[in-house]
Parts: sequence; structure tokens; C-alpha cells
Amino acid sequence: MLAPYACDPARSRGRRQLEPEAPTRTAYQRDRDRVLHSTAFRRLVYKTQVFLNHEGDLFRTRLTHSLEVAQLARSMARTLRLNEDLVEAIALAHDLGHTPFGHAGQDALNECVRSQASAGSTEDEVQGFEHNLQSLRVVDSLEERYPAFDGLNLSFETREGILKHCSSNNARRLEAREPGGVAHRFVAGGSPTLEAQLCNLADEIAYNAHDIDDGVRSGLITLDQLHDEVPLFRRYMGLALSTHPGLKGRRLLFEAIRLMLSAQVYDVIDQTQYRLTAAAPEGVAEVRACGALVGFSEDMRSGSNELKRFLRAALYHHPQVQDTTDRARLVVKDLFHHYLQHPYDLPDDHAGKRSLTRRVADHVAGMTDRFALKDHVRITGHTLFA
Ligand code: MG
Repeated sequence: MLAPYACDPARSRGRRQLEPEAPTRTAYQRDRDRVLHSTAFRRLVYKTQVFLNHEGDLFRTRLTHSLEVAQLARSMARTLRLNEDLVEAIALAHDLGHTPFGHAGQDALNECVRSQASAGSTEDEVQGFEHNLQSLRVVDSLEERYPAFDGLNLSFETREGILKHCSSNNARRLEAREPGGVAHRFVAGGSPTLEAQLCNLADEIAYNAHDIDDGVRSGLITLDQLHDEVPLFRRYMGLALSTHPGLKGRRLLFEAIRLMLSAQVYDVIDQTQYRLTAAAPEGVAEVRACGALVGFSEDMRSGSNELKRFLRAALYHHPQVQDTTDRARLVVKDLFHHYLQHPYDLPDDHAGKRSLTRRVADHVAGMTDRFALKDHVRITGHTLFA
């Protein structure tokens, strides 16, 4: 069933620690199961992106986001005859390294780690904090589940898909540690597998769609605004109304989002099939030598970019969201400095070979939103969120 350019688990580049094959599961199915049973995966339920957990029960969390990415990636992979198990493993793991409070948390933690670099910098400290790199750290070393190794010991292709971006400095550092490994393409150029490319795009499709939904639900953006300012949304809202005249409110919103999601999925499938036919890669090695093969058509790419710009200006930078993220940043900074000054307060399982800065960053990054808030009250006595 798999296309010749799909990842075949029988031809995987393997795991870092040699393990016997599982009797009933392929390497990628096993990766997916390991991710699903990990501690970091369960924490995703209490981590958020735009809205904090305590603001409402109906907003997306990182867990439901990851499940939506997996659903979109799997359904596109099936049609393109790519490896569904691999895209599922990558999609479920792609956000494992996110800090509490989404991007505000990551930015704050990055500043904190970098601020320590000047005072006696070690290799660890120069890295700063990147969430993609952290997702890889979670599956490579931070999960403590197996007697023989740290981390989940996932297959190369799953790890490669998880590291979707990486700064060039960090890529060189990873490459030195693992020559020809998952960071090689950031140093030498080249593309990841089609499955990795697909997850990347499924992530974008998923968060654009659900941030519209959550944004309207929160009252921070309106249907009228979307209609007036986002041509892509206007197109599918018009389609929904022409099929169902008089449709309004929540059902109109959902129908427009549903039509937009389907159109984006079909667009990716058509465009990718077109590029695959033109490039005709015979295997994964040739895929790696091609430019991006998974993608939107030009029209859909510009529509999606306009939508992203709208969401950034109207939702992510909305004064109310900004106010929450400002406070979230403070929480992360206070936590970081507390643990740096009181290392005995760190849990035992964070002992090890890492520098104190990195141990503190790993500890804070692993927190859920609500744990971070509770811990912040414990150490400061201040309640920043009522
Ligand atoms: Mg994501």
C-alpha cells in the first residue's frame, strides 16, 4: 500500500540503542505507543497555546491540538500513500517540549536561559531554549521509563520529524554530538521525509482553524471581522451560506471552518501529488534531495498566510491575551530564578549530568499551566491569576 517514497519501517535508520523488534508492531507503531504512554504526553492536557486553562473548559489544549494534527496528517497520509503510523507518532510528539503558557512561556524561558550564558557559559547555556529542540530532549533523554536507556529511544525518522526547526548554532551542536543525525539537514541542507513535511503543514492547518474557533468563542474576534478581513474565510463562509441560506451563529462558524479545513486538506493532497509526479522521487533518499514536496498551492499558501497575519494581529496580540501572556511571562521568570537560587527544591529525578541552568529549564518547561501557577503561589505568595 505504501508509495515507494514513503517511509518503510523495515528500512528505518533505527534507534540509538539497539532493541529487538516488537513481535506485533512496526517500529513506527511502537514509537507512537511510546509517545502515547509518556508522562510528557499526559501533561499536554494542561498546557495551552493562546488561552490559559483556567479561562474556560472548551478551549483547545496542547493535547487536543496534537490529536487534531494527528487526525489531519493521517488522513492526508492515507490518500498520498505515506506512512500513517509515522505521521501519527510525529504529530502526537511534536509539542511535547512546549513550556507552560505557550509561546509567552517559551520566550520567557529562552530569555532566562540566555541571561545565564554570560556568567560562565557552558555549552548547555548558550543554546537558550527552543521548544522543538526541547521536544527532542523529552523523547531522547528526559523521559525516565526504561531500565536500559534514557528517553523513549524512538526511531530516527520520528525524531527527525519532531525536530522541525532548529537554529543553526544549535544544529551544529547537535550535529557534533550525533554526526549525520537529525540535525544534519539544518547544517548541510536537504529536506526531511514526506511524513515530517506533512506533519508540519497539518500543524499549521490545525491551529489556524482551531484558533478561529476558540477566538470567536472567547469573544475576542467576531464572525464579521473574519468575513471582512480574511478573504480565505470569506470564501468558505459564502459557500456555507449559499448552500444553507439563513445559517448563522455557531453553526455558520463551524460550517465555514469545516469547509475551509476540507479545502486545505484537498489542496495539500492535489498540490503534493502534482509535485511528486513532477519530481518522481524513487525513494526516501531522493525525497531528501528535493526541495519541499508537501505544500499548498500558491493561492492557498497566500490565503493561509493572510489568515495567520489576521490571527496574529487580532487574536494573539489582542490586549486581553497580551495581558495574560505578560503575567505568564512573569510566572515563568519567577519560577526560573527561584529554582536557580534554590536547587535543593528541584525534584530528585532532575539530578544528573546537566548544568544547573539546564536542569532548571527542563523542570520549568515540563510544568503544566496549572502546576506552574500553583508553584508560583507557593514560592512567591502572590496570586497573579485570580
Ligand atoms: Mg503544534
